[in-house]
Amino acid sequence: METMKQATWNYEYWRPRATCKDYDPALFFPVGVTGDAELQIKSAKMVCGHCPVAMQCLEFALRTNQEYGIWGGKDEEERRVIRRMRRQQRKLAVAS
Ligand code: SF4
Repeated sequence: METMKQATWNYEYWRPRATCKDYDPALFFPVGVTGDAELQIKSAKMVCGHCPVAMQCLEFALRTNQEYGIWGGKDEEERRVIRRMRRQQRKLAVAS
């Protein structure tokens, strides 16, 4: 049985089950965050909301430092916040 860590790194393992595989990839890479892009981001997140591999997708994006696009239902700023929180948690763990 594959662990979560293995499943995350093994793009070939989870990608075939991605809900977005039948969508235009451009939907997940909006240009900007206002106007039409805002609607596009919401649409992409709705697709992710039904995706059975959203956790793997998000972990992949976080671990490979994907800067752009919607991954695992999270936009760029949301992923930056998660990365920041994880760094703080690691610092606290080391300090304790
Ligand atoms: S979470 Fe979203 S971007 Fe990631 S594989 Fe699923 S549908 Fe695609």
